[in-house]
Amino acid sequence: MSIAFLKRCWEHILHDIVAPTRPSSHQLVRLATPFGRGASVRRQAALVITARVQFLSLIFAVLVPACAIIDLALFDWKTGSLLTGLRVAAGAAFAAIAWSGERGGAHRYAWAILRLLAMLLVPTVFYLAVLHITSGLELTRAQLLAVQLYGLMPTIVLAGLAIFPLSALEILLYSVPVLGIASWGLMDPDVGLSLLRHGPIYWFMFMMIGVAMISGMSQSHYMESLVHHASMDPLTGVQTRRAGIEAIEQAMKRAQLQGRPLTIMFLDIDHFKQINDSFGHDAGDRALIAFAQALRQNMRRDDVLIRWGGEEFVAALPGMPMDAVPALLEKMRANGLGLRVDGKPLEASIGIAESAADHCADWARLVQLADERMYQAKELGRARAMLPEGRVVDMSAKSDAGAGA
Ligand code: GH3
Ligand code: MG
Ligand code: MG
Repeated sequence: MSIAFLKRCWEHILHDIVAPTRPSSHQLVRLATPFGRGASVRRQAALVITARVQFLSLIFAVLVPACAIIDLALFDWKTGSLLTGLRVAAGAAFAAIAWSGERGGAHRYAWAILRLLAMLLVPTVFYLAVLHITSGLELTRAQLLAVQLYGLMPTIVLAGLAIFPLSALEILLYSVPVLGIASWGLMDPDVGLSLLRHGPIYWFMFMMIGVAMISGMSQSHYMESLVHHASMDPLTGVQTRRAGIEAIEQAMKRAQLQGRPLTIMFLDIDHFKQINDSFGHDAGDRALIAFAQALRQNMRRDDVLIRWGGEEFVAALPGMPMDAVPALLEKMRANGLGLRVDGKPLEASIGIAESAADHCADWARLVQLADERMYQAKELGRARAMLPEGRVVDMSAKSDAGAGA
């Protein structure tokens, strides 16, 4: 088997089974490992994991103690009551997991994973305890059947991983201890593990891990696509206000941690209604697309561009100090802000706020300041940018003067 053949098989599995929508190699790394996922994808994954853990824990909290009736009927009084006690304890643990409170903010995902691991731990510990209680007993055929069903518990835990939107690496990491515990339980004191006797169960467990990995990556990929589409304004392709606010929050946090500035730009197209009134709504839409494209072309990869509403846009520029803003504005003015359908250049009034210049670490306040300055720019006659300390930059498409005072 050549390397090229194996590579083709791997690509086939990834592209046609895991993610038929053909993710980029960058996305594939994110599906294989938990690293590099965006904040909104992590939040969404945490919500899905938490909801599923709660639902399953709630079901197990009822079912596990209820099935004690079978143990009491099958085993002698001592073993039956030990197993019942174990089932009640497991039920209580499941109930505690189902009702343990939510965590918000940065620890949301870690907390969701912790609850998931706790939920997986309960049946694994339960399995070990059952092995201990039933070891050395002379078992009838019915009791042997029950013990063998208990023996399937680690496999059920591995199969359960398949319903969570986890990366392949996470599934692998959570599977290793379960496999270890299962091996310990399967080990015969005299002969250890034998291929003939234990081979099929290992084959089944490895298959479960493979299925869980494919299912986890596939779910993560669809979730990522949905989050991406939901966070994109369908007309202009820039971020929606809801997704953009999250991105600004993150950018502000990072800027503060790194001691770098964050500049907020609030832009409102001048006389936009006139375009709609003169040329129709479609021409207005095309102007919005052209405006967004022109803005994007002047921005860096880490800059965030948001359609705040209607013909208003907000840009968050991490690491951009106020000193560098006039040059950026001049570049925007020189490159233009897009064209109307009649070929005339679009113009905008712009308000700018910056964390260091405005002594402000609150992103919402910075957006508010930028919005207020945008209105001041309108009042001064439009097609200009208002900076902190009343500094004004001409943004008129006709003017070649660039920055003014
Ligand atoms: P000003 O210079 O004071 O900003 O005037 P303006 O005409 O740009 O501002 P105004 O707020 O009066 O008008 C904004 C218009 O934008 C009104 C609304 O119909 C239009 N609009 C909002 N969203 C869309 C959209 O998605 N497509 C189109 N074609 N028009 C939109
Ligand atoms: Mg407006
Ligand atoms: Mg306007």
